[in-house]
Amino acid sequence: MTVQLVGAGPGEADLLTVRAARAIAAAEVVVFDRLVDRSVLELISPLADRYDVGKTPGQSSSQESTNELLIELGRSGRRVVRLKGGDPFVFGRGGEEALALTSAGVAFEIIPGLSSSLSGPLAAGIPVTHRGISRGVTIVTGHLIDGECNSFVHLANPELTLVVLMGVAHRAEIARQLILGGLTPDTPVAVIERAYTSSQRTVRTSLQRLGVTEIANPAIIVIGAVAAMSLNDITTELATAAW
Ligand code: SAH
Repeated sequence: MTVQLVGAGPGEADLLTVRAARAIAAAEVVVFDRLVDRSVLELISPLADRYDVGKTPGQSSSQESTNELLIELGRSGRRVVRLKGGDPFVFGRGGEEALALTSAGVAFEIIPGLSSSLSGPLAAGIPVTHRGISRGVTIVTGHLIDGECNSFVHLANPELTLVVLMGVAHRAEIARQLILGGLTPDTPVAVIERAYTSSQRTVRTSLQRLGVTEIANPAIIVIGAVAAMSLNDITTELATAAW
């Protein structure tokens, strides 16, 4: 039996892939973390064992123990699902877990999920690319490796959309570096908190004001001209018409 690394999507369970939903329902053991929505956890069989690995503080040591847990469970021969928020391979440490399972000789399968990096902006009616406005999108972590390294200066490009995950804590510094890199202070910014959950919230601001704008984790920060767009109503109308 293999371990399945499953993308749980950004929130509500009806955004799971059919493959992911089937794997979750069939699991005998589920290992999940913090960002997995309650509605997704409700799909787990009441007979399945659950491991919540999201509560342990101290990320790096807990990743080690999660890897060990997955290896041990994988060897037990039961149906193991490792549920991860969004997509397993977008800042989800899915790659690290896949490597650990490979070195331990435990077979695994990876099931993709909707990443908050793309679906978060969409939840606020923001197309990450739009002809004539944005010709591409850069997805980046807001964890600064070194506050002094100015890594965001080089990401300043008015033709591209910047999507920052885990950027709440360092948002003032990120904005400072992007302005230093050449983005104008009035560049539109949208922040989408808890996309596709019952408490989703969108905040619109500018690069200049990002540092003083109150926002909370988990949130997606969208920087660039498209962040001024809000196609929500149209999306809703089209969806309704299609049904
Ligand atoms: N693998 C995940 C990302 C994990 S990193 C994915 O593909 O979506 C964790 C970061 O993802 C959070 O700090 C936040 O920036 C973002 N995030 C995840 N779920 C989110 C949601 N529902 N709404 C807003 N941001 C979210």
